[in-house]
Amino acid sequence: MSSRDSSSFHDKRGGKFIYVSSCLLNQNRRFPGIAVSEGAIPGLFEEIMRNGIGIEQLPCPECLGWGGISRDSVFRFIPIFYRYSGSRLYPLIKAMGRVWLYKYRRLCKRRAHEIVRDIKSARSSGYRILSIIAMNDSPTCGATRKLSILDMVANLKERGLRVKDIECPQFDMMRKHLPNLLVAGQGHFMSELINGLKQNGIVIPVLAYDPWSDPQKETDRLTEALLEL
Ligand code: SF4
Repeated sequence: MSSRDSSSFHDKRGGKFIYVSSCLLNQNRRFPGIAVSEGAIPGLFEEIMRNGIGIEQLPCPECLGWGGISRDSVFRFIPIFYRYSGSRLYPLIKAMGRVWLYKYRRLCKRRAHEIVRDIKSARSSGYRILSIIAMNDSPTCGATRKLSILDMVANLKERGLRVKDIECPQFDMMRKHLPNLLVAGQGHFMSELINGLKQNGIVIPVLAYDPWSDPQKETDRLTEALLEL
């Protein structure tokens, strides 16, 4: 226990908080074309705040590693992936993509380790970390479902989309196709975070938010689960 743990002084803090995927608090960080609201996810945090639970925003690794909030690096690759998908050269293009993704995974690992250190420090100072709420459709933050970013363009092409539909993604088009492209598994950052916690013997429940479900039901489900912890 730290020498200045939360029981050694008195103020108004409640001593418990959660970590949430960055874009749950700020949809402006979502991949272009898939923001489901203007800012924070409406209604998701009210009950949490009423119950005196602090909300800590996780980093958005895609904004850090994929060319900023506009994901410029991904959009640079889209025409190449589109053009060669289905061709004999596609395995080579995909292998280059894997190298790019390997570097990104290392970034995710570094950021995850920082969070694990922060969580260890908070716990040793007497704070309770109730949960991590993860955006559950992301190649990066998905907790039980993720998108394969390397297959995204080829999959959308197979569904009949033109390259300009993918380069300038519109919400209705993404809502129609993206949920069908999700596969079981953890995103790069969430997987590193969960592994990092496990290696340190820390158990924190991860709650998965599905942005493509009914928002009210999703809010009720998560709030109920969180308040039971
Ligand atoms: S899911 Fe994760 S990586 Fe994607 S926008 Fe949200 S915080 Fe960023």
